[in-house]
Amino acid sequence: MNTFTIGGVHPQANKLTEDRKTETAPLPVQAVFPLSQHIGAPAVPCVQKGDRVLVGTKIAEPGGFMSACIHSSVSGKVAKIDTIVDASGLRKPAVFIDVEGDEWEPSIDRSDRLVLQCNMSREEIVERIKACGIVGMGGACFPTHVKLCPPKDCAIDTLIVNAVECEPYLTADHRLMLECPDQIIIGIKIILKVLGIDRAVIGIEENKPDAIAVMRSKTSMVSGIEVMPLRMKYPQGGEKQLIEAVTGRQVPPPPALPANVGCVVQNVGTVYAIYEAVMKNKPLFERIVTVTGKSVKNPCNLKVRMGTPVSQLIEYAGGMPEDTGKLISGGPMMGRPLLDDTAPVVKGTSGLLMLPEKDAARKEERNCIRCAKCVSACPMGLEPYLLATVSQSQEWDVAEEGMIMSCIECGCCQTTCPSNRPLLDWVRLGKNRVGGIIRARNAKK
Ligand code: SF4
Ligand code: SF4
Repeated sequence: MNTFTIGGVHPQANKLTEDRKTETAPLPVQAVFPLSQHIGAPAVPCVQKGDRVLVGTKIAEPGGFMSACIHSSVSGKVAKIDTIVDASGLRKPAVFIDVEGDEWEPSIDRSDRLVLQCNMSREEIVERIKACGIVGMGGACFPTHVKLCPPKDCAIDTLIVNAVECEPYLTADHRLMLECPDQIIIGIKIILKVLGIDRAVIGIEENKPDAIAVMRSKTSMVSGIEVMPLRMKYPQGGEKQLIEAVTGRQVPPPPALPANVGCVVQNVGTVYAIYEAVMKNKPLFERIVTVTGKSVKNPCNLKVRMGTPVSQLIEYAGGMPEDTGKLISGGPMMGRPLLDDTAPVVKGTSGLLMLPEKDAARKEERNCIRCAKCVSACPMGLEPYLLATVSQSQEWDVAEEGMIMSCIECGCCQTTCPSNRPLLDWVRLGKNRVGGIIRARNAKK
């Protein structure tokens, strides 16, 4: 069974919610939409205080080429445009909407009818995806319309559907495959049409045999779409790792892209969102979120409208357990700790994890013993001990030479370090600083 070759770790899967059918979360009283929910420029509001909106009304336009629009997930009245501390822990501009009823834009097809035939041209499909604000839903939130237009000199031959969900605890993609496989297959066909190719591979880790079986049965009569079970290894959901696992191809260091080795990778949740946008004219305003934790009373998978405060999801799952030591947006490896439970669900919110104190507590940090375990674990072939040290001593040129910008923030280094060094924290900090320096340098050119 295939997997990637460099680094990686085997954390406990803890998929507590894999058998829980997706339920629908109640509507919030007020929905909050941060304007930065994607990689690139923040969106620009196109509504004002007092405006009335419906479910699916556009409330913010893309703020540049690399950006995405944002739609209301509720009907009601714009209460204010203000700031909120989002899941990144930073204060960001946001649109606040007071909820009144649940009235949808009439242009959205709300029926359960499966739409099979897409008569739109490639250009019309890309325009629709852009107009519906679709971004990568695996966490990176890269605007999808940009990703579907790879550089002209790259000969794309394979679409890889990322259904790996290697992050512990999370089961949103797993449930989506079990509950909506037909829509996923149609979404794949739409993407193949846009890319002008005829080969797609759905990569699924072996710990989801039911999803592998469902997707195999749905693709058995479809030519060009293959289901590929993959050996479990974290972070197999990283683009470079998945491309190697599926095709054996190695993506060169930045600025090379997956397109340079003929691949486009789309998360399975994004594929579903593309189906809904193209066939149902439905903007991206809701998603599945896994709400989980070992002490959580009712761990669940919830279909949640964007902008819903995470406090509401916690309440739905039976409340915050007393032993909670850390509240995380996402999974334990790549997720971000939340300061409190007021942050809203956004396009990239895949899960909400309430980690017990005993699992969350940091162990005492000791000196590096030069064991090189962090180097062996790094899937990007970096030297995490060195990158952390030079970030601490603010040697940004050494950090850049050491390819700190290639770090995918997977956390493999930190989890393997016997000295409990907070390697990821330092590398993240260094990456932010070096990224700023590179941007400033490029702006001067
Ligand atoms: S340095 Fe970055 S890419 Fe390498 S293991 Fe650490 S977090 Fe992952
Ligand atoms: S794993 Fe920890 S102790 Fe070992 S070399 Fe890396 S930083 Fe040092």
